[in-house]
Amino acid sequence: EITLGVMGGGQLGRMFVHAAQRMGFFTAVLDPDPVSPAGRVSHHHIQTAYTDPEGLARLAAVSFAITTEFENVPAQALNQLAASRPVAPAGSAVAIAQDRAAEKAHFVTCGVPCAPYAVIETPEQLKAVDASLLPGILKTARMGYDGKGQVRVKTSAELAAAWADLKQVPCVLEKMLPLALECSVIVARGADGTCVNLPVQRNLHRDGILAVTEVYEGNLPPALVERAVAAAKSIADGVQYVGVLCVEFFVLEDGSLVVNEMAPRPHNSGHYSMDACDVSQFDLQVRTLAGLPLTQPRQHSPSIMLNLLGDIWPEGGVPPWEKVLALPGTHLHLYGKLKASKGRKMGHLNITGASTHRVRTTALEAARLLGIEAF
Ligand code: ATP
Ligand code: MG
Ligand code: MG
Repeated sequence: EITLGVMGGGQLGRMFVHAAQRMGFFTAVLDPDPVSPAGRVSHHHIQTAYTDPEGLARLAAVSFAITTEFENVPAQALNQLAASRPVAPAGSAVAIAQDRAAEKAHFVTCGVPCAPYAVIETPEQLKAVDASLLPGILKTARMGYDGKGQVRVKTSAELAAAWADLKQVPCVLEKMLPLALECSVIVARGADGTCVNLPVQRNLHRDGILAVTEVYEGNLPPALVERAVAAAKSIADGVQYVGVLCVEFFVLEDGSLVVNEMAPRPHNSGHYSMDACDVSQFDLQVRTLAGLPLTQPRQHSPSIMLNLLGDIWPEGGVPPWEKVLALPGTHLHLYGKLKASKGRKMGHLNITGASTHRVRTTALEAARLLGIEAF
């Protein structure tokens, strides 16, 4: 009996648990929430704070190796676990991904361009901000996700007001870039340096939250795909990364590729791989953690993923699943969350089909039935 441990009990942890169980592993989830999506389906559920030394000791005691599904797990907690068990990714890599300033410095080291930016920690630094960074987006350096902790600012007066408002230092001011499109690359890197990648995702965000991911031949220029994969691999190699890493990119109107941020775990934009690839991002996470071989995943079907946010849940009811599941090639994933609320990720719908045209037609019909804006 081998148990794989995971820090965090959200939907990413739940899908990791499912993948691990399918390969015969037992699982242990540490999460304070008694009804967390992953804790509810795991063999062991250690219900403590992420920083509780006793909970961490219990997780280490039952686990063969430990990963994370939540990027804001305190790096010290990962370091405590690492004293007695293999931890992947390492606390040092997670710490970089947790801090936009450290993350951008790492991108620069790897030679991958990111948006022009300034770190703002003091009133003096606020005053000294170069006007060429405006209009821009002020982002808290830590803890932001789904566009939370971000304010778009046009003038230095708006910047000062936003900085006072966020009440968090440090922040990062990024120049607002003219985006043509967004894409992301998921890589899995083993302890021996083997690195494989999923096909590159093209992503549509709405209100700072991922809405739609499309992956099929022809949705991105091949030269761009090649550059993005090479950049993601160099970012992983640069920290001797072990595990699954997602790197988000912007493609600008002039065709240039700019890195946005990275997530030290499987990613929402990689969920299509569960139904469209022979090896999913969660399978890759299990393999990297258990020290099993990595092979290059192969996508067997064109695919579109629609995120299912709480917004589409009718008061006291559920969306029309029967109608959606009557469409060919629809795969419904629900995370077992008890309450739907605006912007909350409740599940996703993967659509696969024999042709891109078929997948797009089905996805648009599913979106219409669910009340999701067309794309
Ligand atoms: P996630 O949930 O992906 O972690 P996040 O809260 O960390 O999101 P970002 O990825 O920094 O947020 O930004 C969210 C979205 O806002 C981006 O996907 C992009 O659409 C837009 N955006 C962010 N920074 C810029 C920028 N410098 N220029 C233009 N658009 C941007
Ligand atoms: Mg982020
Ligand atoms: Mg992002």
